[in-house]
Amino acid sequence: MHAHHPTTPTVPDVRDVHDATATERGSFAVARCTCGWTGPARRSRDRARLDATAHGEAAAGASAAGGDV
Ligand SMILES: [Zn+2]
Repeated sequence: MHAHHPTTPTVPDVRDVHDATATERGSFAVARCTCGWTGPARRSRDRARLDATAHGEAAAGASAAGGDV
């Protein structure tokens, strides 16, 4: 008997969602995430958006790799 047990796949904890967006702060733009992370103040909103994207990818990569902090 070589039955494959259709176990439910282990899904990552979706509660720790990273939804980073760039928000304007005076004459600066800052990337903020739902996890509480904030990026450095940037002169341009494009930069802040890049920070937000980088944070989201880093967070996703870290969780995928096992969360080695
Ligand atoms: Zn985050």
